[in-house]
Amino acid sequence: KEEETVVEIDRVTKRYGSLVAVNDVSIPIRDGEFMTILGPSGAGKTTLLHMIAGFERPTEGEIYIDDRPVSDEPPNERNIGLVFQSLALFPHMTVKENIAFPLKMRREDPEDIDGQINEVLELVQLPVDYKNKPVGDLSGGQQQRVAFARAIVYEPTLLLLDEPLSSLDKKLREEMRSELTRIHAETDLTIVHVTHNQTEALSMADRIAVINGGALEQLAPAKEIYAQPATPFVAGFIGDTTMLDGTVNRIDGRRAAVAVGGGEVTVESDDRVTVGDDVRIALRAEKIALDHDDVDADNAYEATVEQVAFEGDQTQYTISVASLDAVIDVTHQDPDPETVFDRGDVITAGWDAAEVF
Ligand code: ADP
Ligand code: MG
Repeated sequence: KEEETVVEIDRVTKRYGSLVAVNDVSIPIRDGEFMTILGPSGAGKTTLLHMIAGFERPTEGEIYIDDRPVSDEPPNERNIGLVFQSLALFPHMTVKENIAFPLKMRREDPEDIDGQINEVLELVQLPVDYKNKPVGDLSGGQQQRVAFARAIVYEPTLLLLDEPLSSLDKKLREEMRSELTRIHAETDLTIVHVTHNQTEALSMADRIAVINGGALEQLAPAKEIYAQPATPFVAGFIGDTTMLDGTVNRIDGRRAAVAVGGGEVTVESDDRVTVGDDVRIALRAEKIALDHDDVDADNAYEATVEQVAFEGDQTQYTISVASLDAVIDVTHQDPDPETVFDRGDVITAGWDAAEVF
């Protein structure tokens, strides 16, 4: 189904003096989509969100909301809901007063306000009898729900979230992740969510826009960002990845042999590479198999365990592969007690050609 674009970020650049915070970025956001903008600190994520909200004006380019260019439109005319990391609730006001605030600003009929508040409380799953509690008396997770309720009570075209979960502890963060996914599924809200957290992006987003240094690196569905990173930055930023530099020795159909250190790694080839090219290959930590004996894979090497970090449901290893002159990170899920390795163990590490970028 061809989906309608509700927000079009069209070749937008934002400069602060000589600093380019956002560099020629284009992102079309579809109606009802959960779009996550993912990038490290300083990448330009907040600046991009502020331009959509109308707090900042693009230096170049234009943002369209429902096909209207909005650069000259003040924030309060854009019908956008916002939740920031700080939440910015009024702690001495009650839950009801906080949620009613944007409705009163919009001069909605006081008769309707109560019904709208009850409805949104149900959506964010806060008990109705919390209405008259001061927000400051609520737990962190409940305050988060109030902030979401206040942002969506007037049914905005668009909900903008700037790292709203990053100040929560791990357990609450995971709970609110699935709550946000549920709220998105139960409404027809279009969400633009900003985060530096890869797991958060992969678990919630329909599509992810990865930005770095103000520029768009890749825009694709979450699964594709993980499985087919378009740039070395994306490969390195998503997941735990080891990069190795090498030179293409041979190409045989869909296979290429890349010289790395004193050895060779077999990878899947594509039209972009020819014999003699210097290439960088990337290995995902969770795609590498370790065994005391053999590993049945396209690539298998003798390896020495250098470091072990047991993490309960998984174990992180750092191994060295002398023949490749390489140090590689490996994540082992659900370690079988029979195959937990110790520092200094000499083992076999292997991976298939298809797992190498
Ligand atoms: P992120 O949200 O991805 O961490 P920001 O959008 O906040 O990144 O910032 C991107 C870059 O723009 C940073 O280098 C930041 O210092 C700079 N920047 C952001 N806002 C301003 C401003 N108002 N004045 C000057 N520089 C700014
Ligand atoms: Mg930011």
